[in-house]
Amino acid sequence: MERTYLIKPLLDETLPMIDHGKGVYLYDTEGKKYLDGSSGAVTANIGHGVSDIIEAMQEQAKKVSFVYRSQFTSESAEKLAKKVAEMTPGDLNWCFFVNSGSEAVETAMKMAIQYWQEKGIHTKTKVLSRWVSYHGITLGALSLSGHTGRRARFVSLLEDFPVINPPYCYRCPYGLESPSCGSACAQELELAIKRIGADHIAAFIAEPVIGAAGGAIAAPKDYFKIIKKICEDHDILFIADEVMTGFGRTGSMLAMEQWDVIPDIVALGKGMGAGYAPIAAALASEKVIEPILAGTKVVMSGHTLSANPQSCAVSLAVLEYLEKNKIVSQVESKGDYLKSLLLQLKNQFSFIGDIRGKGLMLGVEFVEDAATKTPFSRKAMVTQKIIALAKEKGLLVYPAGAGIDGVNGDSIIISPPLTITKDEINELVLLLTDSFEAFS
Ligand code: PLP
Repeated sequence: MERTYLIKPLLDETLPMIDHGKGVYLYDTEGKKYLDGSSGAVTANIGHGVSDIIEAMQEQAKKVSFVYRSQFTSESAEKLAKKVAEMTPGDLNWCFFVNSGSEAVETAMKMAIQYWQEKGIHTKTKVLSRWVSYHGITLGALSLSGHTGRRARFVSLLEDFPVINPPYCYRCPYGLESPSCGSACAQELELAIKRIGADHIAAFIAEPVIGAAGGAIAAPKDYFKIIKKICEDHDILFIADEVMTGFGRTGSMLAMEQWDVIPDIVALGKGMGAGYAPIAAALASEKVIEPILAGTKVVMSGHTLSANPQSCAVSLAVLEYLEKNKIVSQVESKGDYLKSLLLQLKNQFSFIGDIRGKGLMLGVEFVEDAATKTPFSRKAMVTQKIIALAKEKGLLVYPAGAGIDGVNGDSIIISPPLTITKDEINELVLLLTDSFEAFS
């Protein structure tokens, strides 16, 4: 088929054309089978071709596919909002639906600024973030992202919102070890706030497990309690970016539950529609929504396709499918099993520096020398080469790394659909082993 649709391929590879998907597998038009070891971009959380979702799509399409959000609400949007509130902890009861993770983050930023404005405080307009982070590709979300590779071309348009180091224990910037370090990297937020001035800061945002910029870097146990306390002490809202981690990826509905912290605002995306429809959301707690409802009454954001009835029906079906099949409660044991197999590979291949992550969001960092943790040169394009070799063998894995030269240049995320079976995990690891052998 003639191609006019432009997507940059990895290295010099021509992108295969996809035909269909079933379960954890995708099939291209040449008949080649791929094990989706990354759920695309950590998105296809319930696998491909699930009939419950397809039926829900058809049912909604028969009723109505689009209404404009300021003219109508819909049954599917209302039911979805209720379901999301039920499935998430605390009083995160208010949903603002958008279409991508980047939009969810932008909305979360605006909600935070609006919250202070409604309270009569107009100076709190900055949202702080961390280096080695990724919050999205639109300009507000990219401003928050401590991902030099993705910022580089557009720095002239961006704010410098990343201000502190990440909880990157494998390469601790202080040369300390957790837990005796007392999470010095979290304490750094206090200094940053004092330097910038709490009067100017609306919120602080962080991913519970750093995804695209880090390769599944999970914070130490006490980290987010310290962060939340610092935010509270300085009247700063805490936003959790759960676009990648939300809806079960790490073994709980929100990853933040595993740190026993309830954020003021949460950004959700990816797993919410599990790839079946574009849908994402910014979730607000009662505390955040109260002055907005008492003041302007609307969140000052929105898109033409916000709360699209078709996307909401799909997301509702995905969340019901997660519940009905008790998928999230199985994630921890599946993740532990996969991690144990990956740890065995670490002994086999000298270029594996670190295996990390939570639940079914696991990361592998590649290094030139595991003893000294010396990274590969970025020019060697190690991640890209390994991903291309894996794809050749029929395995999809996801690239990660913040593009900071000499730091965390090369890692992959392994994040298969949460529905993966033990046999399929074994197959995934065999394909990965073959790919690593081909690289070494
Ligand atoms: N936030 C996080 C943590 C992400 O991982 C991503 C995407 O990878 C985004 C935001 C942006 O989401 P989207 O690509 O749907 O705009």
